[in-house]
Amino acid sequence: MLYRTWVEVSLDRIVKNLRAIQRTVGRDVVVSPVVKANAYGHGARMVARCLDAAGAHWLAVSTTEEGVELRDAGVRADILVMGDFLPFEEEAVVSHRLTPVIHSLARLRDYDRLASSSSRQLSCHLKIDTGMGRLGCRATAAELIDALRQARHVKLEGLMTHFASASDFGSPQTSDQIAAFGAFRAALRSAGITPPLTHLASSGPIAHGLQASWGNMVRPGLLLYGYAPPASGNAPRLMVTTVPALTWKAAVVEVRDLAAGDSVGYGARWRASRAARIAVLAVGYADGVPPELANRGKVIIGGHELPIVGAVSMDLTCVDVTECACARPGAAATLLGPVYDAVAMARDAGVDPRTILCRMGRRVSRVYSAQ
Ligand SMILES: *Cc1c(COP(=O)(O)O)cnc(C)c1O
Repeated sequence: MLYRTWVEVSLDRIVKNLRAIQRTVGRDVVVSPVVKANAYGHGARMVARCLDAAGAHWLAVSTTEEGVELRDAGVRADILVMGDFLPFEEEAVVSHRLTPVIHSLARLRDYDRLASSSSRQLSCHLKIDTGMGRLGCRATAAELIDALRQARHVKLEGLMTHFASASDFGSPQTSDQIAAFGAFRAALRSAGITPPLTHLASSGPIAHGLQASWGNMVRPGLLLYGYAPPASGNAPRLMVTTVPALTWKAAVVEVRDLAAGDSVGYGARWRASRAARIAVLAVGYADGVPPELANRGKVIIGGHELPIVGAVSMDLTCVDVTECACARPGAAATLLGPVYDAVAMARDAGVDPRTILCRMGRRVSRVYSAQ
């Protein structure tokens, strides 16, 4: 063992997941894998390079800095920067050939000015706010058409929106948003503006086959990493199965015996009701173990499911190994794996599975296998 805590990432599995998604949406729909937030904890550079090599034409990130990191890692695919860029990032957007998403008419004018002084044509995608109420252009179609006609130096390569309730199949919001997007698109089309790419869907509407939301491009994040977003309401059956690509482990640093009545950790939140044996793992909330798992999470050592006891500390987590003779210092404990994955941990912690993945911190070494 070479690490205190590490994740083993199967790049091959991520590529298989990409292919499964591509098969589901069909050849006419571009799949743009979302590799923001360090590729949901899997390591953006390695994952992006591997998707690039596997033939992905587009990758999506949130920030300019994330896009720059991928260009510097040698990624050749087009890179969509979805989280807007600030004035100090303009230079990097242009020099690293990133494609920004524009979220307002004012930003479109700024970008057109930037494009007019650039030696090559700059392109962008335009996001319409159809109900998310966060980023996205809120102008009327007429205002938008006018602004696009004036932005003569910018190439409008894509039109997009983002769903607010994508996994809630009891809500009418997604179909309302699809309709609003369709109306915008039709208005632009009748004005002769036809961006080649249109996209709305993240993992939920892809996984559940909500074809009306696919346009000709989709943006899977969670699904690419092997998890269908937990759905509520009357969800249509899953159209695509992907498999988790990551196993998270931590070393046992210490095993100790406690007498009945001894307590464990901050706030003495757990107390031994009988003689007990505790293993201390080299992983804590700074590494991404949810503090919500105090006295309710579990880890696996030697095939045994063992309960987390007491508070999760910043750097350490304790488990009750009284029933498991195999927990010795140096043994590996599995926090996430085939038996207990990020969706299961998220459920126990009362958080979204994306939270589990993207909280995995810098001290968690990423180890890659081709398999
Ligand atoms: C993060 C993000 C996605 C991917 O979301 P998942 O539900 O994880 O697939 C897609 N589109 C936008 C705009 C995002 O910010």
